[in-house]
Amino acid sequence: MQEKVLVTRSSMPKFEEYVEMIRPLWDSHWLTNMGEFHKKLEQKLKEYLRVQNLSLMVNGHMALELVIQAMGFPEGSEVITTPFTFISTTHAIIRNKLSPVFCDIKLSDYTIDENRIEELITEKTVAILPVHVYGNICNVEKIQQIADKYNLKVIYDAAHAFGETVNGVGVGNFGDASVFSFHATKVYNTIEGGAVTFRDESLYKKLYNLKNFGIRSEEVVAEVGSNAKMNEFSAAMGLCNLKYIEPNIKARKELIKYYASKLRDVKGIRLCARDTESVEYSYGYFPVLFESEICGQAMRDKVYDRLMEENIYSRKYFYPITSDATCFKNKYKNIPLENARYAGANILVLPLYPELDKTVIDEIVRIIRECI
Ligand SMILES: *Cc1c(COP(=O)(O)O)cnc(C)c1O
Repeated sequence: MQEKVLVTRSSMPKFEEYVEMIRPLWDSHWLTNMGEFHKKLEQKLKEYLRVQNLSLMVNGHMALELVIQAMGFPEGSEVITTPFTFISTTHAIIRNKLSPVFCDIKLSDYTIDENRIEELITEKTVAILPVHVYGNICNVEKIQQIADKYNLKVIYDAAHAFGETVNGVGVGNFGDASVFSFHATKVYNTIEGGAVTFRDESLYKKLYNLKNFGIRSEEVVAEVGSNAKMNEFSAAMGLCNLKYIEPNIKARKELIKYYASKLRDVKGIRLCARDTESVEYSYGYFPVLFESEICGQAMRDKVYDRLMEENIYSRKYFYPITSDATCFKNKYKNIPLENARYAGANILVLPLYPELDKTVIDEIVRIIRECI
């Protein structure tokens, strides 16, 4: 029997390296509240992500919640977003007392369909919140054109797109702001963590206050903030992991190439279209779509079950789509989401992490071929 294989495996530095990094904390006793590692990591990430402005956060979700809050939208406003994402994206909108308006996606790369955004705009629309899902970059040009035409903010959920660039431009430069996640399961991790990158530099102070309870000074609390500060142990982990990010991404790219070479000719399987001419990807995920017209309705689920029998854990990302989550079902505008539902029902994300053994990929491919 195959040893247990999960869909991902957290990248970690050498134990000794991390211990050496955190040693100074036993001298300073400064464990959180924007300490030295926090400052240093903000600087390093600005360089790596090629952005001007960045605020570190305790996780990607709070980064989303607080950047939306910082924009100060009136309660009940509408935000056009994708249902083909992790639930966090939708929760962040609703927890800000705003209404999600779900827009369908494209089946070519699973990002929001930029040609269907305009028809969803009303007087209440204040923002567009697309997701660079699986690290596939949205049509940022078209989305910006629409935003400019209707005076809307654009906030990207870039949790899957760490370090990606388009013609050399860091992905965090698009729109008004972008949110990254450094959760343990992501390409780059700080155990738990996240960041907001943004265009308008005055947002830095706003986000700083919001992540620290809205406290302005010892005696002034100027707004209802939260607690979303990254602690020093996480920031130290981030500084260590950043040293190895490039070889890690390279290893992921290699494995995806290997997967693709083995699966390309399987009838009924569709792999993500990628624009390798202009985009540098970070290869966070390897999604495979089982075309139900060719493979039958339940092929995705069948492969998922068969892999699990062999101790290989793939993930049905993103099923159900967020608009169908038990807590939102039928609560928001009912827009046909044909492509998102199709993707949700037929995509399986296969195991991928830098140390994944190619023999495991061979085994996965064998099982898929057997199922089909
Ligand atoms: C991981 C993720 C988040 C949330 O990030 P956390 O750091 O886990 O809070 C948000 N959106 C997407 C698309 C994600 O994959």
